[in-house]
Amino acid sequence: MKTALCKVCQVTGVLCTSCERELRTGKITSLDVDISIYLGRAAKDKKELDTVSFKRALYIDNYLVLIFKKGDLRLMLSHGKKIIRDLEEKFGRKVYLVEDHPNFREFIEGLLYPVPVETINIIWLPDGSKETRIVLRKRLRREKERLVKSIVKELRGVDVKLGYMR
Ligand SMILES: [Zn+2]
Repeated sequence: MKTALCKVCQVTGVLCTSCERELRTGKITSLDVDISIYLGRAAKDKKELDTVSFKRALYIDNYLVLIFKKGDLRLMLSHGKKIIRDLEEKFGRKVYLVEDHPNFREFIEGLLYPVPVETINIIWLPDGSKETRIVLRKRLRREKERLVKSIVKELRGVDVKLGYMR
């Protein structure tokens, strides 16, 4: 697996000068480092996860949110379930996996999967600010609603309103 650390550091757990610099300059956080070491070691001998790329980790609400490269969740869900379960135990948080799509709509769809997204509208308010409204075809639990909003805010800097089809 590729992580926020280099191949060596993610297994030894000791940071080389280049990874150390990433941390010191704030390109990666100490949480990114901890998760990279955990995943790097756990996935070391898992061939199926070789191409998977972990980018960053965030604590949001009561969750540990892990962001992977676009297209990687399928592999994580089919070959990394045990790794994730162990990670939840070790860090004492529920893990939520996210794919980092460059395209906003795809990012939202991935985030909400398997709940289908009906529309995403950007609405300009009279005061000149804008609001992103996402209409879903199935209701989310309150907790999940809150989590989704926080993730979009944190990763894209966008405030979203969730609505539902009647
Ligand atoms: Zn390194």
